[in-house]
Amino acid sequence: MSDTRTDVPEISVVLPVYNEADGLRTLYDRLVGVLDGFGRSYEIIFVNDGSRDGSWAGIMALANADPRVCGVNLSRNFGHQIAITAGMDLSRGRTVVVMDSDLQDPPELIPELYAKYADGFDVAYAQRRTRDGETRFKKLTAKLFYRLIRRMTSIDIPVDTGDFRLMSRRVVDDLKRLHEHSRFVRGLVTWVGYNQAPVFYDRKPRYGGVTKYPFAKMLRFAIDGITGFSSEPLRFGSHAGLLFAMASLALMIGFMVYKLAGGQGLVPGWTSLIVVLLFLGGVQLLAVGILGEYIGRIYDEVKRRPLYLVRDAVNIDAPERPPHG
Ligand code: UDP
Ligand code: MG
Repeated sequence: MSDTRTDVPEISVVLPVYNEADGLRTLYDRLVGVLDGFGRSYEIIFVNDGSRDGSWAGIMALANADPRVCGVNLSRNFGHQIAITAGMDLSRGRTVVVMDSDLQDPPELIPELYAKYADGFDVAYAQRRTRDGETRFKKLTAKLFYRLIRRMTSIDIPVDTGDFRLMSRRVVDDLKRLHEHSRFVRGLVTWVGYNQAPVFYDRKPRYGGVTKYPFAKMLRFAIDGITGFSSEPLRFGSHAGLLFAMASLALMIGFMVYKLAGGQGLVPGWTSLIVVLLFLGGVQLLAVGILGEYIGRIYDEVKRRPLYLVRDAVNIDAPERPPHG
């Protein structure tokens, strides 16, 4: 379907959607309520990330009734971070807001984010003061994750901050020039730099549906974040190797001195041998695994596949060839 957009809007809102059919209408109503009240021109871009429920039909219905609503239908489920990227690629606004479509990120915060932009900041990121309606386990792992990633990477990724943020046009254009496939968008935004400011908020429970981030996916996401911004883990192998080499040297000298001094009774201990063997085997496998993570990533990058493919679109012209190829 053809592009209904003419003027450049002040705000583009990008919403990744994966099986969120039940909440779309409420989301739209709340968004439009806030944005109409705010009085700046806007567009709303839904990116359907291969949903298996009626999400795409819901998006089309909204877009057909309101030309400010655009929809992009990806050819399959590419994952949250890529869905966000697709939405940003297609946005045209002078500023771009990225938020989840499950109403965990309140649309009511948008004017506050925009105020930071008006103050001269290029990025206003929403930092969670509290998280409601999430399991203890999720809160704990999320907290650990944000702190770990800060320690391990060289860039200053803000803690307790998801992808809910407002970015200026130049930041979005800069992001388009970052081609990596294992995308950790919040890290990329931090990497871009300029002036960035937090806006604090309380994260709400989901409006409906279930989280699309089960533990395995969260782990994958954490590994993507760390490996994407740090080669620190690669040093683990050499550090561990050095440690064990030194320890064995100390042991060797110890035994030699003991023998030379006429010490007796060095019975070969099977238990300690097997323990050391297993331990070293484990450390070696871990080091090889870490190498594998990075090699896998290099492999993903050199294939140079497009980041995503668009099946169809409504109220927007989807590019023949998306960027990032
Ligand atoms: N999402 C997506 N593709 C995916 C997984 C999630 O587009 O493969 C969207 C999802 O619809 C939601 C946002 O990303 O709008 C965040 O996902 P979710 O709420 O499940 O994550 P959580 O808030 O539990 O961390
Ligand atoms: Mg959520």
